[in-house]
Amino acid sequence: MLEIVNNFINGEFAEPHNKEYLDIYEPATGSVYGKVADSSSHDIYRAVESAKDAFPQWSGLYMEERAGYLKKIAAEIKNRSNILAKCESRDTGKPITLASKVDIPRAIENFNFFANFSENFIFESNIESEVSINSVSKQALGVVGCISPWNLPLYLFTWKIAPALIVGNTVLAKPSEITPLTASKLAEICSDIGLPAGVLNIVNGSGQVAGDLLVKNKNIKAISFTGGTDTGKKIYQNSFASLKKLSLEMGGKNPAIIFEDCNYESMLKTVVKSSFTNQGQICLCSSRILVEETIFEKFKIDFCNKISSINIGDPKNDKTQFGSITSDEQFKKIKHYINLAKNENGNILLGGKAIQLQGRCKNGWFIEPTVIEGLDNRSRLNQEEIFGPVVTLQSFKSEEEAIEIANDTQYGLSATIWTTSHKKSDRVAKNIDAGVVWINCWMVRDLRTPFGGMKDSGLGREGGESVLRFFTEQKTICEPK
Ligand code: NAD
Repeated sequence: MLEIVNNFINGEFAEPHNKEYLDIYEPATGSVYGKVADSSSHDIYRAVESAKDAFPQWSGLYMEERAGYLKKIAAEIKNRSNILAKCESRDTGKPITLASKVDIPRAIENFNFFANFSENFIFESNIESEVSINSVSKQALGVVGCISPWNLPLYLFTWKIAPALIVGNTVLAKPSEITPLTASKLAEICSDIGLPAGVLNIVNGSGQVAGDLLVKNKNIKAISFTGGTDTGKKIYQNSFASLKKLSLEMGGKNPAIIFEDCNYESMLKTVVKSSFTNQGQICLCSSRILVEETIFEKFKIDFCNKISSINIGDPKNDKTQFGSITSDEQFKKIKHYINLAKNENGNILLGGKAIQLQGRCKNGWFIEPTVIEGLDNRSRLNQEEIFGPVVTLQSFKSEEEAIEIANDTQYGLSATIWTTSHKKSDRVAKNIDAGVVWINCWMVRDLRTPFGGMKDSGLGREGGESVLRFFTEQKTICEPK
C-alpha cells in the first residue's frame, strides 16, 4: 500500500488543496513507495493564517511551559525511535544503524537541548547611564519558516524547529520533498502530545512552488534554510521584498589536512568516516583530502585498503555501513562528476562505478566509494560540491601550501586538521576560512557552539545563543533618569 504524506495545518492532517501529489521513492530499490502533498498557494496561505492565529497564545506562555512541550516531543520521538529510524532509512537509503545511532538520537537531543538551554538565555537586561534607564528585551518574531534538505531529514528539520518554538515563534516548516516521511511522523507526535493547533505547521511540496511561496510570503518574518548554495542565493533574492531575517546553511567542499606527525591510525579511521558516512552526503564530509608529501604514498594505499572493507548493501540490513544515494538526480550527478574526473586527467584509485546489488536492491541507486588523485585544485571536481561518495587526494609540501589549497574554494563550511603538534594545529586552524574546524576529530558537536559556514557556505549561525538571537527581535525601552 502506498504511504500518503499530507500537510499538517492547524493541528490536523490535510490533503493539498489542488489534490496533487509527488512520488516518494525508496532509493535502495529505485521504486515509488508513497506520495507526498504538492502544496500550492492555498495551502501556504492556510498554514500561515493558522500560525498567525496560534502566535499570541504560544508566545504568551512562560518559557518553562514551552520547554515542557518540547520535552514531551523529545520523549515521544524516543518512544518511537525504532519506527522513525526505519522510516528515515527507507526514505534516504542510509544504513538503518546510522539512522538509529545518529539521526533519531540527534532529533531527540535537539528538542531536549533547546528546552534546557533556553533557561540560560537572557531575555531582558537593563542598561543605565547618567541620563537614561534602558530596558532591552528579546521577543519572538511571529511566524517563521524552516526549510530543510534530504540528507539528514529529521535531524536538520528539528534543529531549526526546536529553537524557533522555544522562544515563542510559531512555525511553518517544509521538509525536502524527496524525504518527507519523518517530518510527517513528527506531526503525528505533536498532535498526540497536545501541542496547541497552529504552533507547528508542516507543508510539503516542491522547492520551486511551496518553498518559493513560503519565502515570498510577507507574513513570514524569518527563514531558516539548509540546502544547496544556489537555492540559498535564490532565497536571498526572493526574500528581498519582504526584508526577512535569513539564516542560510549551504554547501561545502571541506578539506581534511593530514600532516605526517598525526596519530596515523586514529586519523585513518576517522578520515574514512568523514569521507563516506551517509554515502558522503553530509555537508560536513571531507571531500578534498590534502596529505603531506612525505606520507602521501603510504596514505593512498592504507586509505584505499580501509575503504575496501566497508560493508555496502541493503540499508535495512544491520551489518550495512554504506547504503544508497538518496535520489536518482543525485545518483546521475555523481556519475557525471566521476566521468568528468577522467576528462580532467584524474586517476581513479578506487571505485568509480555504480553498483548493482542482487535481489531487493537490484534497481537501487548505489555508487562505489570513490577515490581520485591527480587533479589540480582548480579542477571542477575540486571546486564544485559533488555531495556523494567521491573524494580527491592532493599532496602538499608545507603548512603554507596546505592552507593555500584548503582556502582555494568558494566554500568555507568546515575543515579537519590532523597533527599531534598543538602549535601547528593552532596556526593552521586560525588561517583556514571555515565556520567549523575540527582538530584530530570530526563531527564532534557541542550544541551550544555556533554552527555555520563562511563564504558561499553560509550566512548566519545556528546553535546555542546564535540561533536564539536569530529567532528573536530586540527592543529597547528608554526612560529618562
Ligand atoms: P536544495 O537546496 O535542493 O533543497 C533544500 C530545501 O530547499 C528543500 O526543502 C527544497 O524543497 C527547498 N527549495 C528548493 N528550491 C527552493 C526555492 N526556490 N525556494 C525555497 N525553497 C526551496 O538542497 P538539497 O539537495 O535538499 O540538499 C543538499 C544540499 O544541502 C547540499 O548542498 C548540502 O551541502 C547542503 N547542506 C548543508 C548543510 C549545512 O549545515 N550547511 C547541511 C546539510 C545539507
